[in-house]
Amino acid sequence: MSVTDWETVIGLEVHCELATETKLFCGCPNDFGAEPNTYVCPVCLGLPGSLPVLNRRAVEFALRVGEALHCDVAEKSIFHRKNYFYPDMPKNYQISQYDEPVCGNGWLEVGERRIGIERAHLEEDTGKTSHVGGGGGRIHGADHSLVDYNRAGVPLLEIVSKPDLHSPEEARSYVAELRGVLEAIGVSDVKMEEGSLRVDANISLRRAGAEKFGTRAEVKNMNSLRSLARALEYEAERQAAVLESGDAVIQETRHWDEEAGRTHSLRSKEESHDYRYFPEPDLVPVAPSAGWRAQVRAGIPELPAARRTRLIDAWGISETDAGVLVSTPGLADFAEAAVAAGATATGRDVTNWVTGDLTAHLKETGAAPSELSLPPAGLAELVKLVGDGTLSRPLAKEVLAAALAGEGNGSPAAIVQARGLAQVSDEGALAAAVQAVLDAHPAEVDRYRSGEDKDRKKLRGFFMGKVMAEMKGRGNPQVLNRLLDEALPTNS
Ligand SMILES: [Zn+2]
Repeated sequence: MSVTDWETVIGLEVHCELATETKLFCGCPNDFGAEPNTYVCPVCLGLPGSLPVLNRRAVEFALRVGEALHCDVAEKSIFHRKNYFYPDMPKNYQISQYDEPVCGNGWLEVGERRIGIERAHLEEDTGKTSHVGGGGGRIHGADHSLVDYNRAGVPLLEIVSKPDLHSPEEARSYVAELRGVLEAIGVSDVKMEEGSLRVDANISLRRAGAEKFGTRAEVKNMNSLRSLARALEYEAERQAAVLESGDAVIQETRHWDEEAGRTHSLRSKEESHDYRYFPEPDLVPVAPSAGWRAQVRAGIPELPAARRTRLIDAWGISETDAGVLVSTPGLADFAEAAVAAGATATGRDVTNWVTGDLTAHLKETGAAPSELSLPPAGLAELVKLVGDGTLSRPLAKEVLAAALAGEGNGSPAAIVQARGLAQVSDEGALAAAVQAVLDAHPAEVDRYRSGEDKDRKKLRGFFMGKVMAEMKGRGNPQVLNRLLDEALPTNS
């Protein structure tokens, strides 16, 4: 038996940090990367006597998500206190939503399948603990721990899927699609590596065809789509091995170790009664008016699925390319801006550059498209330089790399000028170079004349290489091919 005898059942909890200006219940800035403990006040530090005031913008963002995910948006939802002790949570409870969340019962289309959304609820984020030093102390082997409360009270929307996902790959596609939706509706910067989007996965196995769910494990600490898929693959195989050996899977929380490529047990999974939920007495219910909800609905922009269809139709690009453009944050915006900036830059040309060299660069540097030193108009310029024959493709790649490294102030034309890279199409200059190479290699020309087809092919490549070298890589290959054909002898 193997993993294929089992059906994998996966449900995901996605914590999305909402991109509000301020925190969920106080006026402290909601910003990443500031000096520790500089964005704090009595409310988010949980000092006695302080009172929370709900951020209207965070509610509006939750309503947007509800509309985009086809949820029932509750006419009334309330907050609860979720009680547990942790040093990075100064109140010793987290204000969250429990049995009356703001959104419920929606769906998201992933490929051909409709994945159910169980609920989406608002809650405050905790602070951040760092364990410092390696002195073998009692907490994770550290000497001591430091707590930063800048994140405490940052608004989160927890989006819980139904257990409708059946493979690690599908789980990955779901998160990619959800990330695209959240980005499109402008509620989050969706940076997984900065923790703006955090995914916990519940995964269990059951015999293929069985109705009853198996015991699930919750897996945490995946901070990229790739590590999500890897962690789930590992966990599915681990559970299959446990079940096949006749043992039972334990309900627990497991930690994904990216370096070791495995999960390990963190703690037995809490049940909701462990948290002693009770209604938050300091906050009134959230009751968005029908008018507000209608206004939010009317303001929902084009979502990724519709955008893919539009780009495929308008630009004649493949489904795969449209998928890459739309699922990478900021990439489709960049491509559309490039097409808009250049009269001769077609969607297809732009897509080729964007999904090729540009995406490779983004992956390598971790930059966002909007942070590139090459603006969309610069890419349009590059496409034009290739289109009018100024640059060959290899030269264009060189210019693009230079532009991405910061050369030319975002202008490929300036780089071409400064480096003297323009492609030479002048027939006189190219013909002279061809003749010079043939004159310099009489033995090869003789062998070409008397050669078999495959020798001739090889020799032709040799001549082309020599001519290109002569032209310092700048010869127009189309013109050179024709000139070589004319200049080389035939063997008839
Ligand atoms: Zn505060």
